[in-house]
Amino acid sequence: MRTTCPYCGVGCQLEPEVRAGRVVRVLAPDLPPNHGALCVKGRFGLDFPFSGKRLLYPMLRERKGAPLRRVSWEEALDFAAHRLHETLKAHGPEALAVFPSAKTTNEEVYLAQKLARVLLSTHNVDHCSRLCHSSSTAALSRALGGASMTNPLEDIWKTDLFLVVGSNTTETHPVIAAMIKKRVRQGARMIVVDPRYTGMAEAATLWLRVRPGTDLFLLNAMARVVVEEGLWDRAYVEERTEGFQAWAESLAPYTLERAEEVTGVPGERIREAARLYATTERAGAYWAMGVTQHTKGTATAQALVNLALATGKVGREGAGLNPLRGQNNVQGAGDMGALPDVLPGYAKVAEEEARRRFEAFWGVPLSPKPGLRMTEVFEAIPEVKAIYLIGEDPMTSEPFQDHTKAQLEALPFLIVQDILENETTPFADVVFPAASFLEKEGTFTNTDRRVQRVRRVLDPPGEARPDWWITRELGRRLAALSGRPWPLHEGPEAIWEEIRRALPGMMGGISYRRLEKEGVRWPCPSEDHPGEAVLFRERFNTPSGRARFFPVDYTPPAETPDEAYPLTLSTGRVLFHWHGGTLSRNSRLEAAYPELKVEVNPRDAARLGIADGERIFVVSRRGRIQARAWVTDRTPEGVVYAPFHFAEAPANRLTQDALDPISRIPEYKVSAVRLEKL
Ligand code: SF4
Repeated sequence: MRTTCPYCGVGCQLEPEVRAGRVVRVLAPDLPPNHGALCVKGRFGLDFPFSGKRLLYPMLRERKGAPLRRVSWEEALDFAAHRLHETLKAHGPEALAVFPSAKTTNEEVYLAQKLARVLLSTHNVDHCSRLCHSSSTAALSRALGGASMTNPLEDIWKTDLFLVVGSNTTETHPVIAAMIKKRVRQGARMIVVDPRYTGMAEAATLWLRVRPGTDLFLLNAMARVVVEEGLWDRAYVEERTEGFQAWAESLAPYTLERAEEVTGVPGERIREAARLYATTERAGAYWAMGVTQHTKGTATAQALVNLALATGKVGREGAGLNPLRGQNNVQGAGDMGALPDVLPGYAKVAEEEARRRFEAFWGVPLSPKPGLRMTEVFEAIPEVKAIYLIGEDPMTSEPFQDHTKAQLEALPFLIVQDILENETTPFADVVFPAASFLEKEGTFTNTDRRVQRVRRVLDPPGEARPDWWITRELGRRLAALSGRPWPLHEGPEAIWEEIRRALPGMMGGISYRRLEKEGVRWPCPSEDHPGEAVLFRERFNTPSGRARFFPVDYTPPAETPDEAYPLTLSTGRVLFHWHGGTLSRNSRLEAAYPELKVEVNPRDAARLGIADGERIFVVSRRGRIQARAWVTDRTPEGVVYAPFHFAEAPANRLTQDALDPISRIPEYKVSAVRLEKL
């Protein structure tokens, strides 16, 4: 049975073969987007649903400090609904938050955000994109009026130059990396901007080893070269954009000399990169967390958008702006409205017309005030008094773990809905056991806007239920308490049909029947529409139809190395594991990469007397963890790199919770640390 990979946003199509309750083999059909290819996670990491850590039955605790006890679904749902309803009555909608999961289906996300808005009257709805691409979403939305990859993955075969910024694509989106590298072998060129010598840097025509947190300076310096040397696309800028002049003037301080000082990249190499990008018509920009997870994440993504607009790269085949999305359904979660400022289809909460449309559609009044972002919700505890948390593990994913722990301890009521026990489960007042991707139907939307089917291969174990069922049943009880409308969908297809009616221009042409054959990309307004491949060919989705330049200025990271903490810590992922590790570390992948290894440059290691493989402490102002040193010049001198998958040695115990002022994303990529011998 064909389904969609539950790990990254590539959305590979795969066929798991299940025997005696185990996934014994995974095949990949010759279908887009992966055409038979899979990475190690899709091939060998799908046995987590059989882990001994599965949550198998509902549990609750009546009061803090009491143990969780097994209860019936009836009792757990009644208890949760009453507590949410009482909180709403006593403290108002701002005291509640719902976090749908980018690992659940579109149908499940839609229903969860609808529950928040219709039954709890709150826009305090958010998902893990807050911690990964919220900066890209903010930058793209205000400049172009849309927040997704502008070009399809097939365009990789038409691209003559790749500008890859802050993306270790080889390990985080391996199938896309393989496509890009193949295209490079065919003759395309590639500029990679990254402090680390990643697999992408290895394959690059030009590798720019920036200092962590200085990409914005480098991108503005490239833009200054483009303007100074007259390499910008005059016709495109005049016909399709606004605000160019003010932006061009704002680049004055970004000279190559200053750029070399700040970024560590020789000025002439920056000039070479600018010329290459500007003069190659089919040049596509790809980026990930190296751009976004900074206190200036939005500004850095904006600098990339500005550069692409000035050189006329948006709305063209083989080019475009392409943020590589992390979770398998993070694009879909945003599309479905799991964000505090937008409703499904990115209709703005604050815009009356959009709001009125959903008020009429759902039959309830909606507040015009956007809700709190995920990071703000945690900051607002205990004023925020109840959270319905679906498929998230903030104890490993939020920065500054000790602070997160204190916040969760102070939260009066927490519902955890998940498939596996994780680091956050012990803080739950109610636990809802959820079905895994192998045990339910629905759709995921991959990184290039392709809606694809998820199919049930197995029955859920114990009393686990699909997320849509749990949310529907919780909603049924809340509706009875509040008297608000809550139609009971029979299943995922009925929910999808409501989504199609809610978003006719975006999803109207995508039916389950059509998805039987293969995925369809949005926007797709009718059944005979093929789905739009390249966005913004004719006009941008802004009121004027033109894209907008936004001048952005460089600011240093919130915390920089000093005498006590002389090194820069950057966090991220490795090929074998996935985010908080809940899935991959409960699969066969764990055997291939069982412990935290921290990359240390040989010069730093020699200075500190640290040998390759030695166990060390990594210490920041916020805590310390133990790790094994991997002495390697992949990581530059002065920088250490730690993946954040390991609950027993959580990199997020070290990270700081300084936030981007616009997207409110934490600065995961730059924290000051020191290394100590054990
Ligand atoms: Fe799954 Fe991503 Fe690997 Fe494809 S590239 S198999 S979607 S983890």
